Amino acid sequence: MGNFEFFKPKNLEEALKLASQFSDRVRLAAGCTNLLPDVHSGKLQDFVFVDIYDLQELKGIKKENGTISLGSCTTISEICESDLLKKEAPILHEAAFRFADPVVRNRATVGGNLAFASPASDMSVSLLVLDAVVLSRSLDRGTREIPLSQFFLAPGKTSLLPSEIILGIRFPIPASLRFFYSKLGKRNAMAISIASLGMGFKVGEVIEESRIALGALAPTPLRASKTERFLTGKPPVAEVFEESSEILLSEINPISDIRGSREYRLEATKALFLRGFSQILSSKGGKDE
Ligand SMILES: Cc1cc2nc3c(=O)[nH]c(=O)nc-3n(C[C@H](O)[C@H](O)[C@H](O)COP(=O)(O)OP(=O)(O)OC[C@H]3O[C@@H](n4cnc5c(N)ncnc54)[C@H](O)[C@@H]3O)c2cc1C
Repeated sequence: MGNFEFFKPKNLEEALKLASQFSDRVRLAAGCTNLLPDVHSGKLQDFVFVDIYDLQELKGIKKENGTISLGSCTTISEICESDLLKKEAPILHEAAFRFADPVVRNRATVGGNLAFASPASDMSVSLLVLDAVVLSRSLDRGTREIPLSQFFLAPGKTSLLPSEIILGIRFPIPASLRFFYSKLGKRNAMAISIASLGMGFKVGEVIEESRIALGALAPTPLRASKTERFLTGKPPVAEVFEESSEILLSEINPISDIRGSREYRLEATKALFLRGFSQILSSKGGKDE
């Protein structure tokens, strides 16, 4: 094991100062479900840990002026338990239930899930569908709002500075959207996604709005913006979905790894996508009933 220093700041201000002071080797420690395995495997050596897990400024789920905000240290279990999210953002609620097992969910935070920037991150896909914005702060750059669609740069890399702390995540309450979320893994519990797909659609005579996000199918979680543009304004019929699935596959670039081959992921994505449409069309969906 390497040499580590550990600080437990009393408030956000102290955490920001420590993050700035040790910016060349700081690691913000939230639930540590990603950090501890990296320490044990020797991937992390000589780091300064700043424990932010108990900071009150980073906790809580709130509804205010048509938006919902989550503190970055909100745990996945708290998302599962939230009646507000179940009602207003069911796709996020569903994704939380599909995340690991109760033991991991009790520790893992939504901020840590985004900052770790795994292509297979479960929170990212649902938050991308919700048009979420990441709120962050550092002593160098002050407070910033980064659209989640611009947050991920590469596997494990985000647009955050090392000294920048995610304060929380915010999204407008989605009106009249019907949702679908699916995570394909080797088994339900504890499986990292082979592919994940989130959809949010407003459907009338034509498709009025379409939001599609994908995980584990490219170097970062992403929104399928070409497919979304193609679908908007089109009638919700089988031929349109079939045609749009070809566009969707052109927007992803899956790898072959121990969980599945590239070819399998492409096939599976198309199947999930078509299943998503039929579920969305047969569901009553969102809050417009
Ligand atoms: C057994 C197991 C199963 C798992 N299953 C899943 C799964 O099903 N789906 C899934 O998506 N993930 C899964 N994970 C991965 C992990 O649990 C999540 O990524 C988790 O949400 C990370 O949150 P954390 O609070 O534990 O982060 P930590 O481990 O504390 O930190 C992770 C990274 O984020 C940074 N960070 C943390 N908080 C902040 C902040 N507020 N601002 C800036 N940077 C910050 C840290 O410095 C570190 O680099 C699993 C992990 C394990 C061990």
